Amino acid sequence: MRLVAAEIDLQALAFNLARTKEIAPHSKVMAVLKANAYGHGLVKIAQHLQEADAFAVARIDEALALRAGGLTKPIVLLEGFFHHTDLPILLANNFQTIIHDESQLLALEQAQLDAPIATWLKVDTGMHRLGIEPSRFAEFYQRLKACKNAKPQVNLMTHFACADDLQDSKTNEQLQQFQTLVAAQQEALCLANSAGILGWPQAHGDWVRPGLMLYGVSPMVGGRAAQHGLKPVMRLTTKVIAIRKIATGEKVGYGSRWQSPCDTHLAVIAVGYGDGYPRHAKAGTPVMIAGRRYGIVGSVSMDMITVDIGDNAAGIAIGDSVEMWGPDLPVEEIAECAGTIPYELLCNVTPRVSYEYIKG
Ligand SMILES: *Cc1c(COP(=O)(O)O)cnc(C)c1O
Repeated sequence: MRLVAAEIDLQALAFNLARTKEIAPHSKVMAVLKANAYGHGLVKIAQHLQEADAFAVARIDEALALRAGGLTKPIVLLEGFFHHTDLPILLANNFQTIIHDESQLLALEQAQLDAPIATWLKVDTGMHRLGIEPSRFAEFYQRLKACKNAKPQVNLMTHFACADDLQDSKTNEQLQQFQTLVAAQQEALCLANSAGILGWPQAHGDWVRPGLMLYGVSPMVGGRAAQHGLKPVMRLTTKVIAIRKIATGEKVGYGSRWQSPCDTHLAVIAVGYGDGYPRHAKAGTPVMIAGRRYGIVGSVSMDMITVDIGDNAAGIAIGDSVEMWGPDLPVEEIAECAGTIPYELLCNVTPRVSYEYIKG
């Protein structure tokens, strides 16, 4: 019996990619697969995104794993390369690189390569993480254009800091700065992550970079997948392994942090932070058993959680299946209950969880 399973719905995944194209109909799609495809399984997810125009990852190892898995689409390295010795690997594997810093540009200019590499010049318009200063755009652009190791087309990229908040004026400021800067160039532009795609249609550009939305999750503040017409891809489930009777006033779990206000029953379920469930999920965080919501109580342990199922135990029995998040229980809501973001919950699912890939 599989005690904790991450059910991955490949049909929902394909649906979300189609939905992305519907929302950004004039843009090519670079599907973002970093961090093991947000915890969904890198190669398996890539294999089922055949309609994407390219893949994007954060690390060269992730890109190599895609090639080893037989994937042949272009792959963009979102942080670029890290050392000049990486360049032959990029060339041999048809990896495209971001250029976000002068050290990368110098390495590319000085390399001895048999053929040029495709590049994306990343401009910092206000995120202040990676990217060149806007004041140096013309210089970098011209040097890349002149660089024999860079392909003639120099794609242009920037990244939004606050696109998940529709009330924040920063996105329009970043957009405007980027558009002004690149106005004279006839190059492919790429700006939007999922929040940019969903919230800022004026920022779609020639390419979009969806990550979270492909997995059927809303990146927006207070958002839910359903409001964007997206379908959750992951369902995390476990089983009831014990049912206990608890009297009024009894304390439950490590630190005895929860005290029962009435006579009730607890279902002990076989999932915990050792599986990636957030330890900081507060009392009352919902789980779904037999189509009904119940709240967790007490501390989340490594391998178990206790759930208050009420005085009559609601017909729940050992062996019953429990949904922790998924199509019936938004991971966005669980993240809110745990003081984090859905990205972190998905990435944190641990290797002891069994993955099951299903279609529909
Ligand atoms: C992770 C990442 C994305 C995808 O972001 P989502 O919010 O998951 O859509 C896009 N662009 C860059 C540069 C990233 O690092």
